[in-house]
Amino acid sequence: MGDDYELSPPELTADRILTLTDPRFTDESVAIVTGAASGIGRATAVALAKNGLTVIATDMDEDGLAETVKIADQVGATGPIETADVNLTDDTAVEALVETAAELGQLRYVANIAGLQHIDPIEKFPMETYDLMQNVMVRAPFLLTKCSLPHIREADDGVGAIANMASVHGHVATQDKPVYIMTKFALRGLTQAIAAEGEGRVRSFSVSTAYVKTPLVTKQVPDTARERGISEREVVEDVMLGHSRVKEMMEPVDVANLFTFGFSQYGQHLDGGDLRWDGGMTHTYE
Ligand code: NAD
Repeated sequence: MGDDYELSPPELTADRILTLTDPRFTDESVAIVTGAASGIGRATAVALAKNGLTVIATDMDEDGLAETVKIADQVGATGPIETADVNLTDDTAVEALVETAAELGQLRYVANIAGLQHIDPIEKFPMETYDLMQNVMVRAPFLLTKCSLPHIREADDGVGAIANMASVHGHVATQDKPVYIMTKFALRGLTQAIAAEGEGRVRSFSVSTAYVKTPLVTKQVPDTARERGISEREVVEDVMLGHSRVKEMMEPVDVANLFTFGFSQYGQHLDGGDLRWDGGMTHTYE
């Protein structure tokens, strides 16, 4: 690793996508995926379509969504992908999104993945950014859950799952990400609350990874370097990978595969739990 450490993931190819046998993985079953125009959300939308599901890929970046559809086609996804240009801060649009999803088939799965990062210490943190992050990463997942639950429960077997993209920052805190940390802890709380009310049929799980090669990570490198007074190379080597035993960042598809597994029949006993896939970062010390 050096100055040229590659933060962009390689092209998403079919051979990296986990495909599983599941009687519910057909185009009759609908999955809503947020943040689907980029990074982890895009890979998850593609992976679920590759597993045969009807996917409603939503984001506020229309061009990014079109690219997601193109990639799904390239990997030979058999499930159709519909796109929905929705800003998750708009309650009415979120409610309409769920209704659209429910009209496409049997809504069973929701992947709350959209998110954003902002680097600043508590004393300097802008309150409008605080509100935006809470709205996108806590309020919208709650509203999507609230609107989706009745539809999932209507399925003939009442089976489905709601998954939330948390983070290692939903377990431990680092400097200059106070609100991100708060939202990720909250998402784990939401996950457990859904499990408590889902009666084992509407399951819930969260996914907590360390750093993944996405634009969200690339963008925070210069800001972290500035706040900590270190070089960008040190941010990658010491801050992002320093505490990880696996010295390679995850790719979006590695995270997408966890959503596929969790939604599938093989995740039947994963309910309220967290898939902490962090290369050992938060499990080891020195
Ligand atoms: P990304 O920036 O590549 O994608 C995030 C997507 O969310 C973007 O397409 C963006 O348009 C969308 N989004 C943001 N605000 C929105 C809004 N108001 N309405 C609709 N869409 C909106 O980021 P990513 O790295 O793929 O992150 C996805 C999720 O994974 C986030 O919740 C992030 O916190 C989490 N996560 C990322 C990492 C990582 O290292 N990349 C690690 C752990 C957790």
